[in-house]
Amino acid sequence: MTGYSIATIPGDGIGQEVIPVGQRAAEAAAAKHGFTLSWTEFDWSCQRYAETGQMMPDDGVDQVRNHDAIYLGAVGWPGVPDHVSLWGLLIPLRRQLNLWANVRPVRLLKGVQSPLAGRTPEEIDFIVVRENVEGEYSEIGGRLYHGTDQEMAIQEAVFTRRGTDRIMEYAFQIASERKASGYRGHVTSATKSNGIMHSMPFWDERFEVMATRHPEIATSKYHIDILTAHFVLHPDWFDVVVGSNLFGDILSDLGPAVAGSIGIAPAANINPDRTAPSMFEPVHGSAPDIAGKGIANPVAAVWTAAMMLEHLGEVEAAKTLERAIEVSLESPVTRTRDLGGTADTAPCAQSIIAAIGQ
Ligand code: ATP
Ligand code: MG
Repeated sequence: MTGYSIATIPGDGIGQEVIPVGQRAAEAAAAKHGFTLSWTEFDWSCQRYAETGQMMPDDGVDQVRNHDAIYLGAVGWPGVPDHVSLWGLLIPLRRQLNLWANVRPVRLLKGVQSPLAGRTPEEIDFIVVRENVEGEYSEIGGRLYHGTDQEMAIQEAVFTRRGTDRIMEYAFQIASERKASGYRGHVTSATKSNGIMHSMPFWDERFEVMATRHPEIATSKYHIDILTAHFVLHPDWFDVVVGSNLFGDILSDLGPAVAGSIGIAPAANINPDRTAPSMFEPVHGSAPDIAGKGIANPVAAVWTAAMMLEHLGEVEAAKTLERAIEVSLESPVTRTRDLGGTADTAPCAQSIIAAIGQ
């Protein structure tokens, strides 16, 4: 029987509550579809930072490198600065494992209300692909004339042809795959070449080159300012949206918001070259305000597990999980409170697991 080894990092807050649900759901799907999952748990978190001064050990990246995938809950806790959890864990993993594509499906599930009045599941169903390792989030820059009237901060953005082409190619590939299963086959590029003088014209240029390599896929491009407006006003225009690290970051938070709730949105940090394991994590954070109460919505963690199984090649198992989620969202009795239901985490989880068995 095929088996996969998963490195699990529940992390902080509700990560501890929702990751076990995702594991149980993934195991139920694995049992149904004839493969096995083995889990190795790592306690990397802000709690570990408080105790040891490190989010993860020095050789942390190497400890997870030989697994087939990484399943992460959430890291971050009040009192621990964001840059500690970011630079002490997430960024080293992203960079050293070459997780250069960040992928977020944005889909309005049945049973979920979009904040955009009257929108139906057919109208909100697209994927945001974010460049995850270069672009605007670079370490190049610094401060000059500190403490004087002339003080300035300089921040460089770095766009390589390799980094730009590969993220665009990845977006086109996703669009082609989607087209094969009935979607429109359309890639939208997020740009700002009317204001940013060097990097964004380069981005546009490479987008045109990549588009000519995929004549079967339609394209459009929008400046990021109007594009955010279109996400809200015309979510039905989008199929696959590709953006730089910064623009993709913005769009990949806005997208899940229009799809209803942060409590359902999944995300993946992918190494498309498959030279290292990819990392799967819900969009939501550790939610300190509800942590420990047993009321967190486990759907994002389960949907994230579905993305992980799909990446591992277990497409049918992934579909089983997605269907089970939709069954559990049908009734307010099994929906959690963030979706207007009455359920705590446990009954919502039970309904998902039960639906997997059906
Ligand atoms: P981060 O900075 O780590 O991205 P954050 O602190 O900005 O996270 P979250 O931790 O995602 O944001 O929480 C934002 C809000 O959404 C909180 O009110 C939280 O309770 C709620 N929330 C987040 N995830 C869930 C969930 N799975 N179920 C229910 N509510 C959630
Ligand atoms: Mg936070």
